[in-house]
Amino acid sequence: MDRLILINSFYPLPEGFEKGLMLTKAGGRTFEQETGRALERMLAAARNEGIEISVISGYRSTDYQQLLWERSVNDAMRDGLSYENALELTRRTLALPGCSEHNAGIAADLGTPGSDDCEEDFHRTPQGRWLCVNAHLYGFILRYPRMKEHITGISYEPWHYRYVGPQAAALIKESGCCLEEFLHFYSDRFTLPCKNSGPPDMKIR
Ligand SMILES: [Zn+2]
Repeated sequence: MDRLILINSFYPLPEGFEKGLMLTKAGGRTFEQETGRALERMLAAARNEGIEISVISGYRSTDYQQLLWERSVNDAMRDGLSYENALELTRRTLALPGCSEHNAGIAADLGTPGSDDCEEDFHRTPQGRWLCVNAHLYGFILRYPRMKEHITGISYEPWHYRYVGPQAAALIKESGCCLEEFLHFYSDRFTLPCKNSGPPDMKIR
C-alpha cells in the first residue's frame, strides 16, 4: 500500500490490512506512522505562526467504523426513516467500514481548539485558511473539495485532510484536481520518489 492508495466506496481496503498497520500518536490521536510524523510537523509549523489546530479524529478501526455505521442507521430509523432511507442517509455522511481513509490512519479531521466535532465553516476559520494555504507543504490535501462531490461521492469536508506526500500534494493543489482525477490523469507520469527504493511508506499488507 502506497501513499497514493485510493480508498472509497469502490475501492475498499484489502482484507486483513490492519494487521500490518504501524501506528503512532500525533495531536493526541492515532495515525499511520508517516502520516503522524507529517501531521506533527504541520501542527508545529502552524503553532509557530500562532495558529493552534486541534485534531478531532485520526485512525478508526473497521470495527469502530462498523459501530458508527450501525449507530447512524439506528438513529435515522428512530427518527422515523425506513431502513432503506436510513441506509441512504448514512451512506451520504459516513463511509462503509473498510472504505474510509480513517481506517488506514492516513486522514485527519482537523478543527479549532475546543471543538469536538467537525465544523461546516472550518474553511472560514484561521485554522482552516492556514491549512488551505500550507497543508500541501507537509504532504496533505483537502480530500473532498467543493465542486468535486460528483467525483468523490462525498460532500465538501473542509476539515478532512489526507496524507499523500509533499510531491503529490503540491501537484494536486496546483492542478486543482481531486485525488480520483489526479490518479486518473497523472499517476502514470508521476514517479513516486520511494516507489522502488528504500523502505515502503506504509506497512500495510
Ligand atoms: Zn474525516
